[in-house]
Amino acid sequence: TTFASLALAEPILRAIADAGYTAPTPIQAQAIPHVLAGGDLLAAAQTGTGKTAGFTLPILHQLSTRAAVAPKPGRPRCLILVPTRELAAQVEESVKTYGKYLSLTSMVMFGGVNINPQFKALKARVDILVATPGRLLDHVAQKTVDLSGVEILVLDEADRMLDMGFIRDIRRVLAVLPKQRQNLLFSATFSDEIRTLANGLLNNPKSVEV
Ligand code: AMP
Repeated sequence: TTFASLALAEPILRAIADAGYTAPTPIQAQAIPHVLAGGDLLAAAQTGTGKTAGFTLPILHQLSTRAAVAPKPGRPRCLILVPTRELAAQVEESVKTYGKYLSLTSMVMFGGVNINPQFKALKARVDILVATPGRLLDHVAQKTVDLSGVEILVLDEADRMLDMGFIRDIRRVLAVLPKQRQNLLFSATFSDEIRTLANGLLNNPKSVEV
């Protein structure tokens, strides 16, 4: 498989070439066509497999090739939930790297830092929001973020989010998302708790394991 054969948009292929990637990793080869086709995904993948590009590349393609329904500041089209601020920063960095030739915007949001710059950032357009669950819920409560336009939801490192006690926060976030959306769940391990979450969240998902 080549990146070109995955039918990603040309500006994304150029950013991939700039990054020096010559071929998709196994998780990318399996996940990307399915995400591009609009399907839900259940992926078993560790860090280091290229999982981040496995979801960010097709998401960038989807958002760049279809118009936002009701674009508004602080109303993301894609929500990526992650367990830690470090991962949040890394994932948003990937979004910026692979999306550098696109006009999509992204924002990273996590707790333990002053919330005021986040309020300010949410007054601008945010297509892709990468967030940890607790701080996201603070913004939901203050109505500074509007999740009613989320077309694609990603739970990255879902097992770690559950280990860190985020299940109730995740469920509160899910409750304010539109019903009609694409869902991608990535986890290194699969406990009963993850399976329960996945069963309730994903519609007819493709399972990918690497
Ligand atoms: P991840 O598993 O998403 O944390 O990615 C691990 C590392 O692999 C990151 O540093 C990426 O830049 C790199 N990477 C992702 N996809 C590819 C690829 N197709 N070819 C070479 N390196 C890649």
